[in-house]
Amino acid sequence: MRIFDPHVHMTSRTTDDYEAMYAAGVRAVVEPSFWLGQPRTSPESFFDYFDSLLGWEPFRAAQYGIAHHCTIALNPKEANDPRCVPVLDALPRYLVKDGVVAVGEIGYDSMTPAEDTALAAQLQLAADHDLPALVHTPHRDKLAGLLRTLDVVRESALPAERVLLDHLNETTARAAKDAGCWLGFSVYPDTKMDEDRMVAILKEYGPEKVLVDSAADWGRSDPLKTRKVGDAMLAAGFDEDDVDRVLWRNPVAFYGTGGRLDLDVEKPGATHEGNSVLRGGS
Ligand SMILES: [Zn+2]
Repeated sequence: MRIFDPHVHMTSRTTDDYEAMYAAGVRAVVEPSFWLGQPRTSPESFFDYFDSLLGWEPFRAAQYGIAHHCTIALNPKEANDPRCVPVLDALPRYLVKDGVVAVGEIGYDSMTPAEDTALAAQLQLAADHDLPALVHTPHRDKLAGLLRTLDVVRESALPAERVLLDHLNETTARAAKDAGCWLGFSVYPDTKMDEDRMVAILKEYGPEKVLVDSAADWGRSDPLKTRKVGDAMLAAGFDEDDVDRVLWRNPVAFYGTGGRLDLDVEKPGATHEGNSVLRGGS
């Protein structure tokens, strides 16, 4: 089973996770930029993080045979902090970089006017840079949040077929599908969405334009959830082609539209900007 996790925050994960993911079949990941738990106080803090997503983390992933790309954005939560909003002005210089395959994650957290502004501005940036967009849908007031997101997408220059709406569930999948967007489902250990519910959704909607991710981060989460969904699909009667479509071909198709996806994992060099992962190395 070959697996592409289209949404996982590897910066928060250990090398044990990389090893276990590779053993489970994961060969490619996309790491969306997001908030770090601890609030950031200046744009410079974002820039160091973006540089890490473009340099250090792909270097680390390659040690384990996994291709790593990222999405870059001002995340919805920190879009509410005036100290962070100037990040928007600096995004164009990141959105031209080879490792960036989409704008994201953008969208709504608490559905504030500041989030409206950041979402609309970043959909425009995606259109300007010929990139797709990864859109986080809120965990509270899910359907209202999704409908408001769809309104902003419709008013934007970015076509719906270049938008991946993530964190969907049974209440939001229909509207997302009817709008023509790609459908993302984050599968968590004990809340929000599990593998059996995911299989039921796939039975109802089919595998077309459906992506499954672990959204693993610094909270309770499981980077092997993609594999567990694949196994649950097979146990429920889906064939290997369906599994391959959901866990590999769909994310390749979605993130490939920007023309920057490179799934050949290069043999990692010994160091990244002079730093080695070897203890005692330079
Ligand atoms: Zn995320």
